Amino acid sequence: MQLNDKIWKIIDRAVVTLGASHALSEKLTRITCEYCGAANPLGEASCLACGAPMGDAHPTTCGNCGFVVTLEEAICPNCSKKLY
Ligand SMILES: [Zn+2]
Ligand SMILES: [Zn+2]
Repeated sequence: MQLNDKIWKIIDRAVVTLGASHALSEKLTRITCEYCGAANPLGEASCLACGAPMGDAHPTTCGNCGFVVTLEEAICPNCSKKLY
């Protein structure tokens, strides 16, 4: 359960930073830099490691149910609706 604790700590921090909605707290809110692969907290405008813009890496929400999804997901894991 150690990993889970870590994840929830990350989520808690991100929620505090963003004043995020309940939907955001339900999903792992860590984004990966597409240039260097570094993990960044949600809400960073640029990568903490390499400075690349993070706009495209930010998660979005499902238009159908509001579940937070990443751009890598083609189908909503919550309601199975096609996202793009
Ligand atoms: Zn980077
Ligand atoms: Zn959905």
